[in-house]
Amino acid sequence: PKNKDLGLERLVKILDETPDAAKAKQWSKYYTSGAHVAGKNYSQAVWTKEKWESYGIKSEIVEYEVLLNYPVGHRLALVERAATGDAMEDDAAAESGKEKPKEDKVLFEASLEEDEVPGNEFSQSKDRLPTFHGYSANGTVTAEFVYGGYCDYDSFKQLDELKVPIQGNIVLCRYGLIFRGLKVLGAQDRGAVGVIIFTDPADDYPDGWSGGGGGNGKPYPEGSGRQPSSVQRGSVQFLSLRPGDPTTPGYASKPGVPRTDEHEAIPSIPSLPISYLDAAPILKVLNGWGYQPEGWKKGGLVDRGVDYWTGPVGFEPERVRGVEASKPTKTGSGKPTKTLLHLENIVEYTLTPIWDVIGIINGSISDEIVVIGNHRDAWNAGAGDPVSGSTAVMELSRTFGEMLKKDWKPLRTIILASWDGEEYGLVGSTEWVEEHRAFLMQNAVAYLNIDVATSGPWLDAASAPLMYKVFTDAMKAIKDPLAGSKRDLIHKGESVRPVAAAMKPVIPDSEGINVYQDRERDHNRQNYKGSIYEIWSKGGGIIQPVGSGSDFVGFQDIALIPSSDFSFRQGASGAVYHYHSNYDSFDWMEKFGDPGFKYHVAAAKLIGHMVLSLTETPVIPFSLTDYANFLEKHLNQAIDFFDKTAKATATSSLTTEVNSDINIIKGVHRSRESLTRLGEQIAKLKKIAVQFDEEAVALTQEINDLDPEVPWYRWWQSLHYWAKVKELNNKIQFFERKFVYEDGLDGREVFKHVVFAPGLWTGYSGAVFPGILESVESRNWTNVERWSEIIQKCVIDATRSIELDR
Ligand code: GLU
Ligand code: CA
Ligand code: ZN
Ligand code: ZN
Repeated sequence: PKNKDLGLERLVKILDETPDAAKAKQWSKYYTSGAHVAGKNYSQAVWTKEKWESYGIKSEIVEYEVLLNYPVGHRLALVERAATGDAMEDDAAAESGKEKPKEDKVLFEASLEEDEVPGNEFSQSKDRLPTFHGYSANGTVTAEFVYGGYCDYDSFKQLDELKVPIQGNIVLCRYGLIFRGLKVLGAQDRGAVGVIIFTDPADDYPDGWSGGGGGNGKPYPEGSGRQPSSVQRGSVQFLSLRPGDPTTPGYASKPGVPRTDEHEAIPSIPSLPISYLDAAPILKVLNGWGYQPEGWKKGGLVDRGVDYWTGPVGFEPERVRGVEASKPTKTGSGKPTKTLLHLENIVEYTLTPIWDVIGIINGSISDEIVVIGNHRDAWNAGAGDPVSGSTAVMELSRTFGEMLKKDWKPLRTIILASWDGEEYGLVGSTEWVEEHRAFLMQNAVAYLNIDVATSGPWLDAASAPLMYKVFTDAMKAIKDPLAGSKRDLIHKGESVRPVAAAMKPVIPDSEGINVYQDRERDHNRQNYKGSIYEIWSKGGGIIQPVGSGSDFVGFQDIALIPSSDFSFRQGASGAVYHYHSNYDSFDWMEKFGDPGFKYHVAAAKLIGHMVLSLTETPVIPFSLTDYANFLEKHLNQAIDFFDKTAKATATSSLTTEVNSDINIIKGVHRSRESLTRLGEQIAKLKKIAVQFDEEAVALTQEINDLDPEVPWYRWWQSLHYWAKVKELNNKIQFFERKFVYEDGLDGREVFKHVVFAPGLWTGYSGAVFPGILESVESRNWTNVERWSEIIQKCVIDATRSIELDR
């Protein structure tokens, strides 16, 4: 019989011995050596398919027809325009865009180009992709401009309160805190006509150190610091509203399907990403105008004369008049002039094929499927994003090949996916999930995502609570490749700048530690507050809830398949990761990101361990108790938030009419009671979940105790065990699905999960109980009650589904 010599232990041994750094380097070299932006990577799709087939994995290429934009031309210039003296006429002229550029004097022309550096082959070739934003709107505008900080929800709220004029203007935003597309959305909602997003060098370092050059050395390629001309490309889709092809919400983009208006999901105003070199001269012009809003931190361009004022030029609010500031003096003939920003974003929108590669390893059980996915498309070379992930999956596939050679048939079925179009907005994975949603909800057990497998040595992990144990067990099974020398890394950093105490190792390095221990000592990264790391590491914690930003979204939030994601990232004093720029190259990866390709190998093993425990354990090894605990913890947080908000509302409504007071109080009261009832249901669920898990563990133990040498005792050949196992698995597999709400979240109906969703105004980090949180935020008390009741139904359903009548 199959699997005779392949118990879990022997499979684990093959997994520990097969993934190999030299091979990883070879795959990395291949994938980074040619253009592979979405819809232009067919040869890499074919290569991936052929490789998988050579390992004995049946594979096919699946095509979708989707809307994408490609860059055609761009320009950004600071111009001086003679004012007519008539404010209305000037404004009309400024708003109407293209007119009379000849009369404008160019004060500064942004390069919008990344420098050529040695050793960066493809990214320097003529095939490289210019700097632009995926799904940005085509357009040319000339307008006054303001600086909006991170352009997150709170920054815009402050700008609104300060009455900084945004309508008709271009907004300059700093990368960080939230997903870039939501910055554009915030500006667009306020009537802005364009957006520029720049990389501030201070955001490369969690403690706000602004050396500009880099942690332990010179800018890339000489050292590991930020290359000053580097630009972060990326999608500006409104991803927290819906992922996937913006014209086919909820269904697959097959040729000929009806399409809806894309502008519900992507911007209608143009935008461009720029480097800090290009940003500094523009920001400088705003010095002394408008405000320096409270709580906004200055960035790393102070050395270059930027004082981080909001502007716009000429805006002198009451409050700051009299404050000593370096106001620009009028230049030229002394005639009044206006300093404007001229933005051109020429992109071509087209319906074009994209290609997912889907491989399958049939298991003994065909209706319990584990899906492993990684995207293949990249903005340029993409050595980290996504090639390090594609490489890890390729090494895992090769490992499966070694197992298949030994006659392995996994217990559960495995599907491998190489997605296209992730960068534009999770397009390939979302379309596939939309096409197969019913099938997946009926048959999938879990989805394991890997995107940037490594850009450094520090692990960040996220997953559905059902998989916490599977995940931590896998982390514990792997030695951290750099365990000892990470201390050196930190100390190297220390010679340049102070390192926060939280980064100091507490476990002696000499012991050699596993990935879990390393993660444990590192996870308390308070010093990451406010930096890009905070959102990427989702605020610390060993395993975080999944948010958004990669291909797990369709699985977790649309099809309710428990999903996971992880990435080894640069630490506080590691090399600057040139995310979405030309410098995310093979050369950078080899020198600074993962010298020796050790973490590529570790990533393959980590995901491999998860796969094996998910496919080879008779009872699906999920913890329902972890899920119940998670619900309890997050409901308590939601109730805290509710109470605080309700209290603040009550205080502020004292001044309003008595009638509306009473209604508010009634609404608050009813919804608060409903939340209490929800808490009681979750407590019941928890009790039943604990019992269920005990039963599952006992059955697993009983099967493990069977003599493995006597084949007829093997559980899957015994109807007695099979029936018992299948009964439990039927409940475990569909547990998360009980939290579905088919009508979807308010205003974003494609998301069907009542527990998990991308944060509405963060994008990357997730929201737990989004329906409740958003209703409390908008003080819509009836809607709080409505969501509380919807979730209660789900919890009751989930509880019933795991009741064992024994
Ligand atoms: N991972 C890509 C990014 O962060 C795409 C995310 C998305 O559009 O959902 O830009
Ligand atoms: Ca679609
Ligand atoms: Zn990626
Ligand atoms: Zn990316």
